[in-house]
Amino acid sequence: MHYTGPVIRPPHEANSILLEVTVGCTHNSCRFCTFYYDTPYRIAPKNQVEHDLQEAQRVNPNAKRIYAVGGDPFTLRTAKLVDLARMIRRYFPTINIGMYARVDSMFNKDVDDLKQLKAEGINDLVIGIESGDDDVLAQMDKGYTSADILRECQKLEQAGIAYRVIFLGGLAGKGNGERNARHTAQVLNQLHPTHMYMTSVAVQPESLLYQDILEGRFVESSEQERIEETLSLIEQLTNPMVLLGQSVANPVNFIATLPDDYEPLTQMLKTTIHRFTHQDERSLRAYRESLINI
Ligand code: SF4
Repeated sequence: MHYTGPVIRPPHEANSILLEVTVGCTHNSCRFCTFYYDTPYRIAPKNQVEHDLQEAQRVNPNAKRIYAVGGDPFTLRTAKLVDLARMIRRYFPTINIGMYARVDSMFNKDVDDLKQLKAEGINDLVIGIESGDDDVLAQMDKGYTSADILRECQKLEQAGIAYRVIFLGGLAGKGNGERNARHTAQVLNQLHPTHMYMTSVAVQPESLLYQDILEGRFVESSEQERIEETLSLIEQLTNPMVLLGQSVANPVNFIATLPDDYEPLTQMLKTTIHRFTHQDERSLRAYRESLINI
């Protein structure tokens, strides 16, 4: 198999075939992100993809899921994605195909395009929306607005494509977690992602956000505020979804299904906040600073 630069995949794709379709990310500008800072974007050569599919078929002929790696392979034009899906299904006729998508990956696709992609086996996308707060999205250079999130995810829903979102806590900075939670809930309550990965930003020295901190443009949230932000967001969610809060960057870890687990989850978070001490803050902060390459 051919891989260039870091291979990033969501946890639930651990048993999927990882197929390099693109390298890097078309955007590569989110201020907190260091995944592909030294890996320029490009599309993997077709003969390489085909070679990897042949190898994957030899090793794992009964695979049920393939994950197209790269920061946002769904940005490829519909015709290219259809070609890709058909090539994949020549080797794995019944396989399901997933990949990361950016919110703007859908700009070049209408609902009919998306329906065609679903019919070709592409489903269960992962979208790092990170926040539904326009100030956060602008400050982090995400390249889209909350209105874009809403419109483009609703297109996926109309096409019947399932998707998961990622929420990156702490991105609003000190004192703004409550506002971020409110605005993110307002967006999510108009959408129906099946799952939400909930994690928390750990600023890496190679990131643009690190420079923002050094130069006083961004002040990080405390660990306690991050837990309060998580609680506030969960309290305001109205649609059913699975919350995946197991992340090395989270001050508190959990997995929960809404609405069934709402009470025990919010109680656990409230108790954690209630009992939170300066020592907890210091040790969680030291732990966050030790996190590298996430
Ligand atoms: S967070 Fe995602 S979209 Fe933003 S630069 Fe990183 S890989 Fe690209």
